[in-house]
Amino acid sequence: MTAPVKAVFFDRDGTLIHEKPGTYLSDPAKVRPYKSVGPALALLKKAGYKFFIVSNQSGIGRGYFTEKEVNAVHERMLKLLKPAVIEEIVFCPHAPDEKCNCRKPAPALGLKLIKKYHINPALSYMVGDKKADVEFGRAIGFTPVLVTTANGKNHLKKYPDMRPAKAASNLLNAARFILKHAERNHAA
Ligand SMILES: [Mg+2]
Ligand SMILES: [Zn+2]
Repeated sequence: MTAPVKAVFFDRDGTLIHEKPGTYLSDPAKVRPYKSVGPALALLKKAGYKFFIVSNQSGIGRGYFTEKEVNAVHERMLKLLKPAVIEEIVFCPHAPDEKCNCRKPAPALGLKLIKKYHINPALSYMVGDKKADVEFGRAIGFTPVLVTTANGKNHLKKYPDMRPAKAASNLLNAARFILKHAERNHAA
């Protein structure tokens, strides 16, 4: 029997890489991972997690940049995140008013990854800086973790009903929480 696949899904902007809230990133030269990303991913990798990124990129639907530019940003980001490996990046290109079914917190993109990679949601985590990330995580059966970087602090205050499993000050603290939480809840 093969071991169940456990995953951490990450939001991109404001979670893995710096974001100026209210702005849209389309220039690969401006990609800046948070300092704690390297150690966080190393810890989680050691514990056997696979990594994915689920991102809302409404800047495409709003006409601010193209899918090609997003892919260039991702290429740069993957280079900067090495030696960590991201298995796959999925994103919603639609503007909110397009009423698609793939914009977080809608679960479609997450469910697709779960199916494709045979991920066990009960062993997996979603990390992001917005209410939509927390709700998305919960909707796909993952344990949701909020990072209070970028929009996180504000959303934590603004949406008291959001209730992430943890609000962590940065990605490394989120990773430490995940390890502790998994030990407490999923120990064999
Ligand atoms: Mg974000
Ligand atoms: Zn969409």
